Amino acid sequence: MVTAVVGANWGDEGKGKITDMLGQESDIIVRFQGGSNAGHTIVNNYGKFALHILPSGVFYNHTTSIIGNGVALNIPDLIREIKSIVDRGVPMPKILVSDRAQIVMPYHILFDQCEEERLAGKSFGSTKSGIAPFYSDKYAKIGFQVSELFLDDEDLLAKIRQVLSVKNVILEHLYKKPAIDENEILNTLHEYRDMIAPYVCDVSTFLQKSLKEGKRVLLEGQLGTLKDPDHGIYPMVTSSSTLAAYGAIGAGIPPYEIKRIVTVVKAYSSAVGAGEFISEIFGEEADELRNRGGDGGEFGATTGRPRRMGWFDAVASRYGCRMQGATDVALTVLDVLGYLEKIPVCVGYEIDGEVTKDFPVTAKLAKAKPVYEVLDGWKCDIRGIRKYEDLPENCRKYIEFIEKELGVNITMVSNGPKREDIIYR
Ligand code: GDP
Repeated sequence: MVTAVVGANWGDEGKGKITDMLGQESDIIVRFQGGSNAGHTIVNNYGKFALHILPSGVFYNHTTSIIGNGVALNIPDLIREIKSIVDRGVPMPKILVSDRAQIVMPYHILFDQCEEERLAGKSFGSTKSGIAPFYSDKYAKIGFQVSELFLDDEDLLAKIRQVLSVKNVILEHLYKKPAIDENEILNTLHEYRDMIAPYVCDVSTFLQKSLKEGKRVLLEGQLGTLKDPDHGIYPMVTSSSTLAAYGAIGAGIPPYEIKRIVTVVKAYSSAVGAGEFISEIFGEEADELRNRGGDGGEFGATTGRPRRMGWFDAVASRYGCRMQGATDVALTVLDVLGYLEKIPVCVGYEIDGEVTKDFPVTAKLAKAKPVYEVLDGWKCDIRGIRKYEDLPENCRKYIEFIEKELGVNITMVSNGPKREDIIYR
């Protein structure tokens, strides 16, 4: 049985917490896309952790944590992250890394920085962790798979030479930077090989065998639907698919094995980076929601950047759930809204004088204006409540309004950052 935990919005929906919770009843947890550019925040018995590359299952003794082939694998980051949690008292987790995962190379990070500098104000808001150059190379077929680290030097050097013949032209002539030396890359890859060797595994074979044995697998998505390169707000998207369907490819399992798609929806909106954001709010109104948001404010887990804030967007979230193929919704950070007298919800987009409820392509999105319906707030702290019927009436009305808009059952309501802050319906 495979369950996926994915985001319906722009990311930062609180997937880390939901994965951590569902991890309790899983045997294997798999990261299937993205890199160490985004992050999950998890609060558990060991403390508060920001994970960037490790799956959220690393805190449990009974789970195996897997980095799937779809991930942009930054080897030093992975090793650093393992050390950082072990240093804080977490028992050494069981980690497997796909031999088909590709490696973020030092020049991917360099190219990311150079490109952001070149684009200056017109940049895509990259975290400069090399993710876009990494995926470009993967699809240009000049990436390095983990398995290639174990080639003999002659073959490895031949490939390095071939890749650098392209990289160095761009580096010297477009970015005006010194060329990269092939032996430097060879040495780096030797270091990477030694670091990663203990974890390397034929992951798809392992997973398919585990599924036959009845093991419970959890696929852990990063970011959300609206950052998907095909179905999101292209080009202000990430470089690998954020959809549950891609979990099958990025982990190496048959698509029909994914039976449950828990789609995490945030009770208000937040986004990082540039791009259209229809229900965005500004000024003091945004500052207040940002400072009260999440667990200690809405600031990037990796970058510390203040997130852009907005009201709940039913148009984007319904689309977000539909593209994920949501079987259930986990509605998160609802407790944050307890300070509001009135809560606007974006229920439509007005484009050229017409109101639509369907999420449009980017070119039309640029013209969209939000149509709001305003709901009454509940004006109290709902943290600590464990039963749905104990929630204030206006809070239940807000949840049920959102559920109707989404057209998917909200089976979990998260009312605080801790594992136990959850209401099952
Ligand atoms: P992810 O990338 O989707 O896992 O999201 P992040 O970890 O970036 O953001 C979620 C933030 O909200 C984290 O700081 C969580 O601890 C926090 N969080 C998750 N669920 C809740 C909730 O129900 N209420 C509150 N107040 N914070 C939450």
